[in-house]
Amino acid sequence: MNKVFGGKLMQFDFEHIFETVVIDADKKKKEKRAKRTRQKKNNEINPSSLGFCLRKQVLDSMGMGTEPDIRLKKIFWQGNFIHDDMVFPVLQKYFEDLEHDELVQVVNELWIDKKVIHKGVELNFRAYVDDVLIHNDERYPIEVKSIGYEFMKLTEGKMSHQIQLMCYLGLLKSKQGWLLYIFKPTLESKQFKYKYDDKMYIGLLDRSVKLTEYKNAGIIPYAEAMVEAEDYETLEEIPPYRIKRELEGDYWFKKEKQCETICNYLAFCLDNKEEIPSDND
Ligand code: SF4
Repeated sequence: MNKVFGGKLMQFDFEHIFETVVIDADKKKKEKRAKRTRQKKNNEINPSSLGFCLRKQVLDSMGMGTEPDIRLKKIFWQGNFIHDDMVFPVLQKYFEDLEHDELVQVVNELWIDKKVIHKGVELNFRAYVDDVLIHNDERYPIEVKSIGYEFMKLTEGKMSHQIQLMCYLGLLKSKQGWLLYIFKPTLESKQFKYKYDDKMYIGLLDRSVKLTEYKNAGIIPYAEAMVEAEDYETLEEIPPYRIKRELEGDYWFKKEKQCETICNYLAFCLDNKEEIPSDND
């Protein structure tokens, strides 16, 4: 009898094997990144989170978030697969293998570790940029997002993704970059080009100052996404601070529904909407 088809080997369980592969890939990715990025800083700012609720970012930095479960790890694995095994090789093939007048280099996962002083506050930006095209010393970042059926409705990049890209454009001193969305079920894609916008970048730095000040002081901000997503019946009911921030070009106001879709702190925030002072106060 062929041993391969005998006994226990007949009872293989794909789900179990796949979960092992996903957990192992997640571990390896973290180890690989840890080697390159040194110690995580407590007050570091990740551009991919900057468009999210300030409270969520502060709670995450305090280690209050939960470790992703296996379902979420599979989603990350799929995202990495689409990026590493589809998008990057395709970009590389086009820009590096084909004949061009001038050389364009494609860099996968460019590491940024940049300190910016804004309004007297030290901001520590640290991130991996998915892909960067380099041409004549100019750098053009590409942020890749693999998504589900919301792909159908996309006519522009989601605001939190625009914020992430604009942050890269400012930090890399790039003139323009792209958001590239891949529809997971069929691998169709949509791409949106964004030019560097000084006003938006300064708005992001202002927001980063606020975030850093909260983190440095150990204060948990008010439940920003929840409070500011509240609907008002009439214009008169809208609180003046909200109008002021909108007029000042605070990009948070082009908000997305975040409490229910991306956040683990919903139960906590429903009971605690106000700012929570530091333990030392
Ligand atoms: S539940 Fe909403 S308000 Fe609370 S941290 Fe999450 S996104 Fe922010």
